[in-house]
Amino acid sequence: MNDSPYSISDAHRIEASQLDVPPRLLLGPGPSNAHPRVLQALSMRQVGHLDPAFIELMNEVQELLRYAWQTDNQLTIPVSGTGSAAMEASLANTVEPGDAVLIGVNGYFGNRLADMAGRYGADVRCINKPWGQVFDLDELRAAMIEHRPAVLALVHAETSTGARQPLEGVGDLCREFDCLLLIDTVTSLGGVPLLLDEWQVDVAYSGSQKCLSCPPGLAPLTLGPRAVKKLQNRKNKVANWYLDMTLVSKYWGSERTYHHTAPINMNYGFREALRLVAEEGLEARWARHQATAELFWDGLAEMGLSCHVERQYRLPSLTTVAIPEGVDGKAVAGRLLREYNIEIAAGLGELGGKVWRVGLMGFNSRRENVVVLLGALGEVLGRG
Ligand SMILES: *Cc1c(COP(=O)(O)O)cnc(C)c1O
Repeated sequence: MNDSPYSISDAHRIEASQLDVPPRLLLGPGPSNAHPRVLQALSMRQVGHLDPAFIELMNEVQELLRYAWQTDNQLTIPVSGTGSAAMEASLANTVEPGDAVLIGVNGYFGNRLADMAGRYGADVRCINKPWGQVFDLDELRAAMIEHRPAVLALVHAETSTGARQPLEGVGDLCREFDCLLLIDTVTSLGGVPLLLDEWQVDVAYSGSQKCLSCPPGLAPLTLGPRAVKKLQNRKNKVANWYLDMTLVSKYWGSERTYHHTAPINMNYGFREALRLVAEEGLEARWARHQATAELFWDGLAEMGLSCHVERQYRLPSLTTVAIPEGVDGKAVAGRLLREYNIEIAAGLGELGGKVWRVGLMGFNSRRENVVVLLGALGEVLGRG
């Protein structure tokens, strides 16, 4: 007999077992393994999102972010969301419909910027380079003369190619043309030399799960004075309520006006990740990433494997390894995961089937991980 007033279906009532996850070593393009101290911080008890204790934490997160980015920008905020949310916020807030936005496309994320900018009404202009190469100052100047953009967007660390875009001199160029400089630092913040104010970057964003070794879920965004001025003088409202920094900054600024509930525990974890950066010091951290990457590159060379990107422009945080002739790259990555618990990734777009992508980011940028990966790769390829 069933006298329930509800007609309940058990169709989706699966018996899920208690959560268990394999102990992966995440050496792909992200996420990287979170530092144990970050995981510990994430599990601490909550406070309310306007609690004085949380407000103090918010201030610390912002200060530590300014350190990590080497900027004094007041508007420096971890956006609730992943890197793509901050990427979208960077464009939504600084682009007005009809603005010419010049985008350097030399990999997957340049294309994503172009797609997003178009959705906010930008007159999108792209300059292209083969994946793995970078733009030089002369090429950028020629494009500025041709397109006269309101915003120039470049990817500092192209995770799809492993190339590092040099930024020295680009800020001056943008000022000369009265243009904002917007850069993607998702795979560089906390791992690759980055000096926002010295390089006169106006807008930058990043993610929590790459060189900062926090799980995905927060995405830092910073706007310098020129970008803030443009934001304040907009003719139209920012076309995305959730990512509107005129609103969000009232919550993260002195007014503390509710906008949306900050992900409390993510901010605990993120604070710990940034605290680790400050403890280690930026220079030491950058040097560690460089040394670990060089060890990996040397090991690859000893195995007869080569890197896709010219050494001068190679990112220490992400290496694209050329897949040797006759080797099934996907099968190798599959075996590394199944048999060794190591995650690496296949190539994207132009580099699909041509490279593996190996990340040595944040907490994972350590000699022992290079030794383990080279050993496993050697066994799978029979080149030990
Ligand atoms: C990972 C990544 C993003 C996107 O971040 P998500 O956290 O995946 O949304 C954007 N740009 C670059 C360069 C990245 O590596």
